[in-house]
Amino acid sequence: MPLLQPPPGSPLELRLARNLVRSLKRGQPWVFADALRDLPAAPPGTPAILLDNKKGREIARGFYDASSPLAFRACTLEPDQPLDDDWAAAGLARALALRQALFDETTTGYRLCNGEGDGLPGLVCDVYGDTAVIQLDGVGPAGFWQVEGVAQWVAGALSLRCVTWQPQGRRSRGPAPAGQALVGPTPAARIPFLENNIRFTVDVMHGQKTGFYLDQRDNRRRIGRLAAGRRVLNLFGYTGGFSVYAGLNGAGRVTTVDLAEPALHVADHHWQLNGLPETGHQTVVADAFEFLDTAARRKQERWDLIVVDPPSFAPSQEAVPQALRAYQKLVAASASVTAPAGLLAAASCSSHVRPDAFLTACEEGISIARRRATLLGSFGQPADHPTPLAFPEFRYLKFVLLRLE
Ligand code: SAH
Repeated sequence: MPLLQPPPGSPLELRLARNLVRSLKRGQPWVFADALRDLPAAPPGTPAILLDNKKGREIARGFYDASSPLAFRACTLEPDQPLDDDWAAAGLARALALRQALFDETTTGYRLCNGEGDGLPGLVCDVYGDTAVIQLDGVGPAGFWQVEGVAQWVAGALSLRCVTWQPQGRRSRGPAPAGQALVGPTPAARIPFLENNIRFTVDVMHGQKTGFYLDQRDNRRRIGRLAAGRRVLNLFGYTGGFSVYAGLNGAGRVTTVDLAEPALHVADHHWQLNGLPETGHQTVVADAFEFLDTAARRKQERWDLIVVDPPSFAPSQEAVPQALRAYQKLVAASASVTAPAGLLAAASCSSHVRPDAFLTACEEGISIARRRATLLGSFGQPADHPTPLAFPEFRYLKFVLLRLE
């Protein structure tokens, strides 16, 4: 089965209006509509050849979407490389080889393909045990990739039972429409998989993102290693990823807070699935801001390790100042209930918020709480979420680890 949609005709030629050649050659794959000389009418995902703004020389091949501000995504910088199934299969095989190098049988939940970071623009595929979930990032990618063909390729290469897809591509955290089975039966409600030998489950048809926040894997391990003997608070805890790592590493008592009650039921399930005693885990359905306010007023409620991993506060560039204020407030409120010598980890998954701005928001928050902190480390997304080096906008995850005085 083909991996790409049949092109509507011969590839379009698009001409740059600005000199973006250097940035494209460095590996930054996006061209916005305002950087193109004209925007011919064509179906989303039509293959296109990008020409420079001076002599009209070929710079890149990729696909075009006149309906989006993100008008062109580069797939290859090799002159004369046809964008055909051989090219697509080679890209998928390269993505798979990286994951085979990164993971063994103790981690069966991972991102097989991270779009632009794997040179396969707009194509995301997460694997959970015997099931994979494909997501296409917008109508451009949906018009370029042949999702059924990609699903067949993935199922064959990894001997999977089911491959599904999320028809509505989305990068943000939040509820999603139900998925569709492309290969095999409709997957079970909860699919089991392992992460660093820890047992989790995922609902690929109804969960958030593709069902699990694989991007926090390394940070979960980091938090687990620091959790022994500590009272742990996991804010925005979803299905309890950080909580279970903490529990298995000897945390004193773990509290998971989330607005979504169903996610907290799953968090409890994950706790027990890993043989942890029920009494060690408490779940609280609450708004994290309100929970922190209440806890601050009750002077006896303090924690030795707090993880704050909220949904994206900045869906657009315009929302960044407001998002930074929200991060500040959250860090301040969390610092107010962190015990002396306690640890505080703050995450941001908004690509519009740059790492230095986030670090400054953390600094402000700590100061508002009248505390001082040492930076133990500043981390990002794991190696199965690769990004072009020259494309910092794609490195959306920030994870700042602090020790408070
Ligand atoms: N840390 C999690 C992922 C968190 S995703 C993990 O490692 O798996 C963000 C979570 O925040 C979602 O589960 C969402 O339900 C929750 N959420 C969103 N707004 C919230 C709020 N105001 N208070 C508490 N939880 C909230």
